[in-house]
Amino acid sequence: MGLIVQKFGGTSVGTVERIRNVAAKAISEFKAGNQVVVAVSAMSGETNRLVGLVEDISESYNKREYDVVVSAGEQVSIGLLAIAIESMGYKARSYLGWQVRFLTDDVSSKARILEVEAFKIKRDLDAGSIIIVAGFQGIDNEGNITTLGRGGSDTSAVALAAALKADRCDIYTDVDGVYTTDPRMVPQARKMDKISYDEMLEMASLGAKVLQTRSVELAKKYSVPLRVLSSMEEGEGTMLIGEDKTMEKVMVSAVAYNRDEAKITVQGVPDKTGVAATIFGALSDANIVVDMIIQNVSESGETDLTFTVPKGDYTQAMETLKGPINEIGARSIKGNPEIAKVSAIGVGMRSHSGVAQKMFKALASDGINIQMISTSEIKVSVIIDEKYTELAVRSLHQAFELDKDVGDRVGG
Ligand code: ADP
Ligand code: ASP
Ligand code: MG
Repeated sequence: MGLIVQKFGGTSVGTVERIRNVAAKAISEFKAGNQVVVAVSAMSGETNRLVGLVEDISESYNKREYDVVVSAGEQVSIGLLAIAIESMGYKARSYLGWQVRFLTDDVSSKARILEVEAFKIKRDLDAGSIIIVAGFQGIDNEGNITTLGRGGSDTSAVALAAALKADRCDIYTDVDGVYTTDPRMVPQARKMDKISYDEMLEMASLGAKVLQTRSVELAKKYSVPLRVLSSMEEGEGTMLIGEDKTMEKVMVSAVAYNRDEAKITVQGVPDKTGVAATIFGALSDANIVVDMIIQNVSESGETDLTFTVPKGDYTQAMETLKGPINEIGARSIKGNPEIAKVSAIGVGMRSHSGVAQKMFKALASDGINIQMISTSEIKVSVIIDEKYTELAVRSLHQAFELDKDVGDRVGG
């Protein structure tokens, strides 16, 4: 007998009929002789609706209360799924995050899971029930409800799979696997049968919403066999695996984009020791994660410091920096939330040269100006004007021939 964790996203539980379909999938694994734990997201659109309610009441809301509100969607879907399974003649039990419990840190709206206490789940599994768990939510040490950031039920599922030492974690969603880029943006995108944890980690952190980044980190750390597949169509989906030799053959494996960042430039920063520490220290104290950073010292001894932050933290970041900017004697601060980050990703970059050059040439030929660049061993990212996101993604997908079968790509 195996233990399978399944996760169903919002679209997959978006209607009563779809909830019945999910119930049937859980039962089918159960009938195959497995113990089954299902992590569920809120019905599609529900979390957005709840976030909208919070924002309509106040722009500067308390994040603890935000978590109380936005975690509510999952309570409905777990209960409905348990009822659907029972109506089909099988035992089911639903649990909220705090009941399981998912112990998290106390960073409201983007908490990290510290520990999953799985003894209640194990007890109920042994008693023959299918267990349904609310994704996206946990509880901190003080007993406050927390949420794990948007898309967080992927992470709930993987954390459960790691804690229960599951034989597999199946992430069911509205596409049939991981593609070379978002298939909703580029119809020529190709589904991959397998992808390395490292490439998936880059893709997720660079904006591919198909898996939450933290879920891939956990899957890699605990070697959770993770698969992404469709809840509507039959198919094997995409398996996350360790790297193999064939993956290094291609220069670029995927293109990702992210419209959720904003750019901030601090102008006229005096060229003195400790100024960067003051600026980024203030942001870090406010729990704002900084992504790309560019600093350029001019001959006059003045510096411009440009960096990106999550769009959701942009207003708070601008506010937070007012004091430190005065303190260090910088001239001004300027922000632009209308940017996008577009990235080419591939473990093959370790052994191929010319990726950046090919990328810049493709963007230039479409008249797209590059505002910032950053690279790592397996990715090249650029910041561009948000309105060119789609054009840039299509252009790079074509330039790296991602619409072709791996064996048919030139120079790769
Ligand atoms: P769920 O509600 O099931 O969690 P999400 O909307 O969070 O689903 O994630 C699935 C979506 O991710 C797809 O509908 C697709 O538009 C998007 N996506 C972005 N990049 C990719 C990619 N490279 N491969 C597959 N899907 C992608
Ligand atoms: N319901 C949450 C969200 O919309 C969590 C998830 O979908 O994974 O972000
Ligand atoms: Mg998701």
